[in-house]
Amino acid sequence: MSNEKIPYKIYLEESEMPKTWYNLRADMKDKPAPLLNPATGKPMTAEELSVVFCDELVKQELDNDTRYYDIPQEILDFYKMYRPSPLVRAYCLEKKLGTPAKIYYKFEGNNTSGSHKLNSAIAQAYYAKSQGLKGVTTETGAGQWGTALSMACAYLGLDCKVYMVKCSYEQKPFRREVMRVYGASVTPSPSMETAVGRKILEEHPGTTGSLGCAISEAVEKATTTEGYRYVLGSVLNQVMLHQSVIGLESKAAMDKYGVKPDIIIGCAGGGSNLGGLIAPFMGEKLRGEADYQIIAVEPASCPSFTRGTYAYDYCDTGMVCPLAKMYTLGSGFIPSASHAGGLRYHGMSPVLSKLYHDGYMEAVSVKQTEVFAAAEEFARVEGILPAPESSHAIKVAIDEALKCKETGEEKTILFGLTGTGYFDMYAYESFHDGKMDDYIPTDEEIAQNITKLPKVD
Ligand SMILES: *Cc1c(COP(=O)(O)O)cnc(C)c1O
Repeated sequence: MSNEKIPYKIYLEESEMPKTWYNLRADMKDKPAPLLNPATGKPMTAEELSVVFCDELVKQELDNDTRYYDIPQEILDFYKMYRPSPLVRAYCLEKKLGTPAKIYYKFEGNNTSGSHKLNSAIAQAYYAKSQGLKGVTTETGAGQWGTALSMACAYLGLDCKVYMVKCSYEQKPFRREVMRVYGASVTPSPSMETAVGRKILEEHPGTTGSLGCAISEAVEKATTTEGYRYVLGSVLNQVMLHQSVIGLESKAAMDKYGVKPDIIIGCAGGGSNLGGLIAPFMGEKLRGEADYQIIAVEPASCPSFTRGTYAYDYCDTGMVCPLAKMYTLGSGFIPSASHAGGLRYHGMSPVLSKLYHDGYMEAVSVKQTEVFAAAEEFARVEGILPAPESSHAIKVAIDEALKCKETGEEKTILFGLTGTGYFDMYAYESFHDGKMDDYIPTDEEIAQNITKLPKVD
């Protein structure tokens, strides 16, 4: 089919929306390493995990074999309020760049929470509710996950308690208020409410917190409060599963027009949007049916894939969570305060870590000033104000399109535009005022935290 016939936006009909999630692990011959109990060094059992997570999510977390999961009707109905998300052909960006490449992006920012995180938030809240729980606890860094979860909990009538990294709590008061609109209670982390929070505050007085600290607090709160469980917005296998809806929709939309991407690009924080976007494509690659170049993009200031170590590590600073085998900078790694672009987590999804380790995908790191420059170039032609996180993918999509301009290749590029950046105006401001710098950790700084990895045989 010729280019001209492809509309600017490809929407699926309601009837064409995916009715199942796809579990990429089922097609991995070499499975990702299991979560380990830090006390025994043995794989976490369903029973142990069910103290932290609700039962159905434990099942999904441990299930490496079931290829498809039916999406419950109530979740399908919720999805219909903001999905399918558009797959956009970036004609204007292509023209601006003068590239023969064809660029598509899957836009997940079309809901109030402003990101893809709602896809998993509604699923996790649904299973907690179905189990008869009273509420859930979680952490949030920049605030998108907390907002998404608040929306999902409000919809289902579930209590929602959010530990928000203190520096974001202070820098992004409007994010906090959005969560409170949806009825969540929001506590700056580290807090005096939990034993682990008090310990972290004692050891690091005046700390502005990290995602790792907030996770420890949220887990403690959930496991010590009757009728509560903990939920996490990224990294976990179950989150990858729910986010597969992004890739399934993208693939269905592209198939409808006979388009096949050559390159698939996504930003990587904990890996959930990228894992979701690539899922059905990676499935084909693993089964030997097709080949795609897949690129994860991460910040140079928090380079888990490109400079991290593939090893078992704690998922949180307080070391209360199970150990995950992943590319990690060490659970004590806290990105420089000058880093404004999100994607600050020290680790990476075990599924993506395994695929990267086995050579099925690539990773690049980019500096934040380049990311914001790409964000503006994109905004000025495509209209959408992108989240800094999403702009990492924009930056590399533009780079790849410019390579095509040099070589004359007409590659098809698909990237994930995960969200909007309305709450990131301080970051845009520091970019505009020339105050943003590109901090890159030294090898010594990175090595320092790696020496503290837990010993696992
Ligand atoms: C949370 C977030 C990310 C990064 O998280 P992943 O789990 O790596 O997808 C990227 N973009 C936006 C807009 C986010 O809110």
